[in-house]
Amino acid sequence: KLCSREFKGEDTVVRVGDVEIGGGELQVIAGPCAVESREGFLEVAEMVKAAGATVLRGGAFKPRTSPYSFQGLEEEGLKILREARQLTGLPVITEVMDPRLVSTVCEYVDVLQIGARNMQNFFLLREVGKIKSPVVLKRGPSATIEEWLMAAEYIISSGNTNVILCERGIRTFETYTRNTLDLAAVPLVKQLTHLPVLVDPSHGTGKWKLVGPMACAAVAAGCDGLMVEVHQNPSEALSDGPQSLTPSNFERMMENVRRVFEAV
Ligand code: PEP
Ligand code: MN
Repeated sequence: KLCSREFKGEDTVVRVGDVEIGGGELQVIAGPCAVESREGFLEVAEMVKAAGATVLRGGAFKPRTSPYSFQGLEEEGLKILREARQLTGLPVITEVMDPRLVSTVCEYVDVLQIGARNMQNFFLLREVGKIKSPVVLKRGPSATIEEWLMAAEYIISSGNTNVILCERGIRTFETYTRNTLDLAAVPLVKQLTHLPVLVDPSHGTGKWKLVGPMACAAVAAGCDGLMVEVHQNPSEALSDGPQSLTPSNFERMMENVRRVFEAV
């Protein structure tokens, strides 16, 4: 397989502007689940940057369980992401759900995200394989590691080698947490492949109080970066409030994560 260590021995380093993912530094992608408003997003973007985030996130197209829930600002959200990138100088990432929108989304952001629910949307994987932009490929909620790596293989074999894996929790019998964060997948996937591996403790737990501890654990397990949801007022968030950190909790998480990173 093209993603395997046997095929390529040295680590793949994915460059996004000045940011190198997989180059030995810890990168932190942070921002709200969804872009909800221009003012709110620009404000939280500055806050996470001040706390040390190196990439901004925000969903413009949201894969919601209910068709009646907030679906995202769509192209207006992409414009806000582009403005936040100009304002902060940080690269931005957003999810693309539709193969027909890959080229549009690419015009606005630096990194495309394939969401967990679309991990085996093979047309979408092939489509992001035809572009040059880096792609964060989230693990499907019930995908085995082999299935996840084969999804990465779809992208790479279509021509795009800038693939970053992201563990975001899998569905198990446990109900106290939204998902079960599979941290053993981090060292395992780093042994099996040369691709960078991120961990998303926000979707991985569904509970903001667990995000800091699991972020530290993910860093101890050897991940190349984190993806964390941050919102100024989580109780008012239009999506994923219960797992979102406030900016001050995010600052605290960053301090703890830095200590763990220096220790390992
Ligand atoms: C997200 O990052 O907002 C998201 C929807 O994540 P996932 O696809 O992992 O559920
Ligand atoms: Mn979310």
